[in-house]
Amino acid sequence: MLDLAHEPPKPKVIAGARHDWELVIGMEVHAQVASKAKLFSGASTEFGAEPNSNVAFVDAAMPGMLPVVNEYCIAQAVRTGLGLKAAINLRSAFDRKNYFYPDLPQGYQISQLYHPLVGEGEVLVDIAPGVARRVRIERIHVEQDAGKSIHDMDPAMSFVDLNRTGVALMEIVSRPDIRGPEEAAAYLTKLRQIMRYLGTCEGNMQSGNLRADVNVSVCRPGAYEKFMETGDPSHLGTRCEIKNMNSMRFIQQAIDYEARRQIALLEEGGEVVQETRLYDPDRGETRSMRSKEEAHDYRYFPDPDLLPLELEQAWVDDIAAGLPELPDAKKARFVTDYGLTEYDAGVLTAEVAAADYFEQVAEGRDGKQAANWVINELFGRLKKDERDITESPVSPAQLGAVIDLITGGDISGKIAKDLFEIVYTEGGDPAEIVEARGMKQVTDTAAIEAEVDKVIAANPAQVEKAKDNPKLAGWFVGQVMKATGGKANPKAVNEIVAAKLGL
Ligand code: ADP
Ligand code: MG
Repeated sequence: MLDLAHEPPKPKVIAGARHDWELVIGMEVHAQVASKAKLFSGASTEFGAEPNSNVAFVDAAMPGMLPVVNEYCIAQAVRTGLGLKAAINLRSAFDRKNYFYPDLPQGYQISQLYHPLVGEGEVLVDIAPGVARRVRIERIHVEQDAGKSIHDMDPAMSFVDLNRTGVALMEIVSRPDIRGPEEAAAYLTKLRQIMRYLGTCEGNMQSGNLRADVNVSVCRPGAYEKFMETGDPSHLGTRCEIKNMNSMRFIQQAIDYEARRQIALLEEGGEVVQETRLYDPDRGETRSMRSKEEAHDYRYFPDPDLLPLELEQAWVDDIAAGLPELPDAKKARFVTDYGLTEYDAGVLTAEVAAADYFEQVAEGRDGKQAANWVINELFGRLKKDERDITESPVSPAQLGAVIDLITGGDISGKIAKDLFEIVYTEGGDPAEIVEARGMKQVTDTAAIEAEVDKVIAANPAQVEKAKDNPKLAGWFVGQVMKATGGKANPKAVNEIVAAKLGL
């Protein structure tokens, strides 16, 4: 179980500086809503489509076009909020955030500043087995994505692709409760996992499904505790925001660099200036992009094209009733029901498809044994081929059958691994393969005795030595196993060897 009665995990302390400094991180995560259509139009959200082929008139901001909110996108954001144990605001509203981008034809983004759809929630971030950091969620608001400017296709011209314009995003804003680079990555991993369980965001970072703005500040030990006691953010250091990160590795590198930059500045008697920075992965450093803009710079105002969004409690309750079992609950259940370690339960529940696979294998079998096979053999083998669980050539029924053959004493654990490889590469019914290829374990004691006699007769010197040193019996066992192609029942071989050598 997640033991939150523990003292909270220690924050990351940066070494090498004159004083001790702690890190404080808050993240604004942009998660693309999993939906076939955009937030305010029926245009498709398909990734990788022909440029400008998924653009409705309203996305292109043609005069007189009016946005109509997509109920499914709102339901998805509500589902996400419920999955993060957050308050759902029955009344929310859309605002215009005005700015110019060539790929934003409206000249503003429809977002939610004053009345977001989702209020306060939390995420338990797994730090180590049994240790979690509670990261508070401040809010989730729903907004439109912008299009894409393409600058590298032509030496003289830039192009604009509006396919992404108007796609629904959820902006998930955390409190500054994340205390180190690894925790930042773990936080994003956990958010992604929860949303994938919920089916509300695919979380594909390469295709930009999930992007994060990372706010970083440093403070002296004790300051964060004062902030938590009083709620007064002036106890914290001045932060910088690193924009648009879409790689777990770069997020960690950027935070580490940024923290060291700020500490060096402060220790030289300088000051951190609040600003927006960009991470350059080639140089491994963050660079100033612009001074921090404030809400008033965007001239936010309520969007007159859209009525406030009013939800009925019964509609929200319906969504709540349909939520799937979420990662923390599933993991805890795997520990208690199948007797797994926290670690193994964590590995098996990382993806819901893997968890389902495991449960089918474990059904009516030993949970630990099923977990070992799924994690060590199956995952290991899939990883070698860079396949994920949904592409597994071995079905849960086939893997279950392999395990049954071990449990039933038909094959040894070692032969089972060969059998697994055959099923993985060639397919087929494991029991039939064992039968057809003569892989059955020899439990027939007469046959084993005959093999043991042969080995003893052929190695009289070894026999003499073994009588003085019983440990050498293992050598005889090995010889018999070799002679039988690993098919002899090892327990029977051990017993017979010991008896024949008179040990
Ligand atoms: P703004 O309104 O200027 O965008 P917010 O209060 O909404 O600022 O915070 C934006 C993000 O910055 C949040 O994720 C929050 O947790 C984070 N944040 C705020 N203060 C700090 C700080 N001192 N250090 C690190 N992150 C911070
Ligand atoms: Mg903000």
